[in-house]
Amino acid sequence: MQIFTTVKTLKLALKNVLPNQTVGFVPTMGALHKGHLSLVKNAKKTADRVVVSIFVNPTQFDRKEDLINYPSTFQTDIKHLQEVSCDFLFVPTIKEMYPNHTESQVFDFDGLDQVMEGAHRKGHFNGVGTIVKRLFEIVQPNFAFFGEKDFQQLQIIKKMVEKESLQVKIIAVPIFREPDGLAMSSRNSRLTDLYREEAPFIFQTLLKAKAMFDGKNAIKTTKWVEEAFKNHPLLVLEYFTIADESNLLPFRKNDKKEFEKGNKNQKYRAFIAVFAGDIRLIDTIALY
Ligand code: AMP
Repeated sequence: MQIFTTVKTLKLALKNVLPNQTVGFVPTMGALHKGHLSLVKNAKKTADRVVVSIFVNPTQFDRKEDLINYPSTFQTDIKHLQEVSCDFLFVPTIKEMYPNHTESQVFDFDGLDQVMEGAHRKGHFNGVGTIVKRLFEIVQPNFAFFGEKDFQQLQIIKKMVEKESLQVKIIAVPIFREPDGLAMSSRNSRLTDLYREEAPFIFQTLLKAKAMFDGKNAIKTTKWVEEAFKNHPLLVLEYFTIADESNLLPFRKNDKKEFEKGNKNQKYRAFIAVFAGDIRLIDTIALY
C-alpha cells in the first residue's frame, strides 16, 4: 500500500492506473473498525484499484469537543488497510484539503438535509458535501462506497452526485455490528464500560420498533420508543424518526388506509440518535 499526504503525489500515482482499470474509493475519518474494512473489502471486489482516505473533516463537526476528541489510531489503521489489500491511502492535512478558507460550500440537497442529522447538526451536511466533492475531484473514482449506518449521508451524497452530474457510482454497504448488535462506530471506543454495556439497547429498541411498526404504526411506534428511552437510566434520546427512505420525509401516520393511498412501493426506515453521556450515537433500521 502506498501512502500519500499531498494531492499532487496522489494524483501522480493515480495517473499510472491503467486506462482500462477501475478505481474504487472509500472516504473515512480514520479510527478504522470492521465497518470501514467491510467498505474496503466491497471496493476490492468491485474495482481494480482501491483508494482509502483518512481525513477528520473540521467543517462537518457542529460540536467543537467532538472534533477535538475524535479518536485517532493511525498506526493500526495502516495495518488494517494492508490486511485488506488497500492500494492507496490518502492522508491529507487540513491545508491540503482547504487551501484557502476552512469553509463549506452551501448545497441544495432538495431538503434531504433539513431533517434528522441535518436538523440537529447545523452545517454538518454542507461540510460533508464539500469534503466529499473535493475528494471526488482529486481521486476521480469510478465507484465510491458509503455505509448505510449514515443512511441520510448516503442519500445526500447520491443527491449531490446527481445534481452536480459527477461521474461516480455510489455503492451502499450494510451496517456492520458488534456481536451484541451495537452498530460499529469510531466513537464507540470513547464509551465508558458502563455506557458500552448499555449501548446495545439502541439496536434492541430498533428491532422491537420494527416489529411494532408493522408497515403502518408510525405514531404508536414513535411514542413507544420515546417512552422506552425516558425509562432508561443512562441513554438520552435525541430523536427517533420513521421516514421514507428515498426523500427522508417523516411518516407520521397510524392508519393503514392512509398509508395505502400513498405509493405502495414506499420503503420506510427508522432513524435514531442517542446520547450516551457526551458521546452521540446514531443507528438505523429498514422497516420492510
Ligand atoms: P466515518 O469514518 O465515520 O466518516 O465513516 C466512513 C464511512 O464508513 C462512512 O461511509 C460510514 O457510513 C461507514 N461506516 C461507519 N460505520 C460503519 C458500520 N458500522 N458499518 C458500515 N459502514 C460504516
